[in-house]
Formats: sequence, structure tokens, C-alpha cells
Amino acid sequence: MSDLSARIREFVDEIAASVAVIARDERGQLAVSACNDQFIQMTGGRQPGAVKSLPAPLDTLLPNYARNDFRQLIQECFDTGVARELEQAYDLRDGTHWWRLSLKPFRHNEGDQAKFEILVTGLEITSKMLLTHELEVSTSRFRSVVDAAYDAIITMDQQHCITLFNRAAENLFGYTAEEMLGRPITNLLPERYRANHSHYVMQFARSPVRSRQMDERNRVYGLHRDGTLLPVEIAISKINVGGLIEFTAVIRDIADRVRLMDLLQKQAVTDELTGLPNRREFTDTVDNILYTDKILSVFILDIDHFKNINDSYGHDIGDEVLRVLAKVAMGCDSRIGVFARWGGEEFVATLPGVGIEQAQSVAEELRTKIEQQSFEHPWRLGKPIPFTVSIGVTERLPGERDVTALVKRADEALYRAKESGRNRVEVN
Ligand code: GH3
Ligand code: MG
Ligand code: MG
Repeated sequence: MSDLSARIREFVDEIAASVAVIARDERGQLAVSACNDQFIQMTGGRQPGAVKSLPAPLDTLLPNYARNDFRQLIQECFDTGVARELEQAYDLRDGTHWWRLSLKPFRHNEGDQAKFEILVTGLEITSKMLLTHELEVSTSRFRSVVDAAYDAIITMDQQHCITLFNRAAENLFGYTAEEMLGRPITNLLPERYRANHSHYVMQFARSPVRSRQMDERNRVYGLHRDGTLLPVEIAISKINVGGLIEFTAVIRDIADRVRLMDLLQKQAVTDELTGLPNRREFTDTVDNILYTDKILSVFILDIDHFKNINDSYGHDIGDEVLRVLAKVAMGCDSRIGVFARWGGEEFVATLPGVGIEQAQSVAEELRTKIEQQSFEHPWRLGKPIPFTVSIGVTERLPGERDVTALVKRADEALYRAKESGRNRVEVN
């Protein structure tokens, strides 16, 4: 062992760095002229202290898979005289170890001869590599979960700029992540929410609640790239990242649900056969008016001898008559507010703000129109089906609040119209 080698060993054996000095002879062969135990352990070589006879050919100390890279860099160092860095993995019995090696050319005198050698120092970076690897795995796991998510997921920073925009968000809003990253979240909000948005965010940032549903009572909308409003459901949460608050919104597209709800809601207040409002809708409307002190008249209409129409022409034609009546009444007079199907061949109408005399004349107008068939309709039978109606009209009494009583009075008038020969309007 040379003096230099002994000096270096003494110097570095105690520190957790691997150190070696590599020399190159006249024939270009590389040899380790000095190294410490850590260097031998690093390469998976023999037991510490085993290498007694240095210099030893470099290849004898390096495993096959590490040799080429190592040698190439050493040669470069010799050729250029410039330091190099290299990260290498060594497979040992207890697993893979990562080292960061720095290769530094240096010149020294041996006797009166100048020698050019490379000082290799290595630091083990296994734990850092494992952490990096773990981070990569968990990042890619996070990425794939986020991107496979059915819901749109958007995160924003303290400045309310978008920091994450997943695939579902791209599909929902019509923007690519690339376009949206770094841009203010307000781009995705309908105009009318923009002014208050940052105030809400600040409020949420200060609140002790970490996650919540956005506006549970009202419908929430997003803004698609093409300007359409998107009915959505939004759950927001916040996390503290190094003292800064980041916000995450999970946004669910509820367009289908909203359509279904609207349909059900409409169905709940609509008569299927005629498309008119149904009894519930009529009652609700009257209730709302009776809650105030406004003037209101109502009438109830019943088709005369409707049973005969069914019996003579069939139930389908009976249905058609019901639809014709609906159409004619709807277009009859603008003073009619709601014209609804009460049930069977009976219909009811509200005339808000209309007194009894005017209401009577509206009813009379409708009765005449039907009697005289003064409306256009392509009858399925090819010829018109003549029919008449009887109508009972009444007016809301001052302070009256009860729908049932109001309808009952109209019904009594209707009964009188039937009794006195049908095809008539009676007032109660
Ligand atoms: P009136 O002049 O006294 O009112 O006699 P009417 O025949 O009109 O009255 P009635 O109550 O005896 O008969 C009503 C008929 O309406 C009986 C029922 O089968 C028929 N009807 C009820 N709902 C419908 C429906 O949706 N479609 C059809 N085609 N017929 C219906
Ligand atoms: Mg009837
Ligand atoms: Mg009838």
C-alpha cells in the first residue's frame, strides 16, 4: 500500500463516505490505488479490510452492471480534467443501495513525478431515493385516482388560481387542464356569482369547518366554455400547505338529475292527457291568491252528456274532446289565469283580479265558442264532434281563505246550470 493510500484510509475510514483514488497507467488500464472500506462495501466487494493489496484493477472491485458507466466517466475525467457526477445503484444482499459519486481529477507529486489521478467520493442516497420513489408512486396513484374520478376535481391556491384540473373537469367545462392551470377560478363561474365568490372563499378559509357542500338550498351552476350554465353539486374542502390554504372542489354534473327532477316536478302538477295544470296546481294557485286580499273569481266547467260522446264515438274520441276543450279554453280569454283539469270531464279556471260579472261573461264567451264550434280543429273522425258545456261561476268573498268552500260554491252554480237544462252559465 502506498503512503498516499495509507494517509487517505486513515483520514476517511471513520466517515460515512466512500472514497477511492483511481489511477490510469500508460496502457490506459484503470486501477484503484487507494480506497476505504465503505467503497468496498458500496460495490458489494469483499469484507471490510479485505483489500490489502492495492493498487487493484478497477474492474475487480465493480460489479458487471456498474462497470461501464463508471469506467466511461472516469475516462472522461482523465481526458477532460473536469469533475463529473454519477448516481449508481448497487444490488447487495440486503437490497439495493443508491450512491451519488463525485469524480474529481487531481494532480500530485510522487517523488519528482507528477501523477494525475481521480478522487472518487460517494455518499449513500438510498433513503432519499426510496422517499423519491415512494413520492413518485403516491403521486402517480393520486394522479390516476384523480383522473379516473367520475366527478370533476379542481384545486385552487390562496390566490384562487387553478392548480389542478382533472379529466372529468375537462369534460364538464370544455377546457383542457393546460388552458386552465394558473387561471382564476372565476372563469368557471356564471357572471352573477363572480362578485361574491372571493368573499365566500375567504369566509370558508376562516371557518373551522374543513369541508362542506356548497349552498345546499339553492341550485349551483358552473359555466361551460360555450357559455351554457351547468347545474352542479359542489363539495369544497381546504388543506393547509405550509401555512397557505389550498382549496379543493369536487364537482358533480347533475344535469341528468335536474332534468329528471324538473320533469317529475312538472308531471306532479300537470294532467297527462290534456297537458293542462292538474287539480293540485289549481289548488296551490288559488291558495296563494287567497293568502292575499286580491279579487278572484273561479269557475268550474263540466262537459254535457259526455258519457254519450264516449258511448257513441268511443273512449279515444272522448279523450280528443277533452284535449280540444283544453286547447279552446287556453286560447279563449287572457283574463283566465290557470285553466286546470279538475278530474274526468270537469275543468276549473281562476280569473285573478276579475269580478263576478266579468267572470260570468268570460265563462259565457267560452260556452258560446264551444257550442258554436267557433274554433279550428282537424277532427280525427273527419267531421266535428258537437258538444256543449255547463259552467258554474263564483267570486271570492271578502277575507275568504278556503279553496274548498270557493270551489263548492262554484259547484253549486254548476249543478244549477245542469238542472236548468245544461249548456248554460250560472253564478253563485
Ligand atoms: P252530465 O251532463 O250530467 O255531466 O253528464 P255526463 O255524461 O257528462 O256525466 P257523467 O258523470 O255521467 O259521465 C262522465 C263520463 O266521463 C263518465 C266517464 O267514463 C267519462 N270520463 C271520465 N274521464 C274520462 C277520460 O279521461 N276520457 C274519456 N274518454 N272519458 C272519461
Ligand atoms: Mg261530471
Ligand atoms: Mg258531464
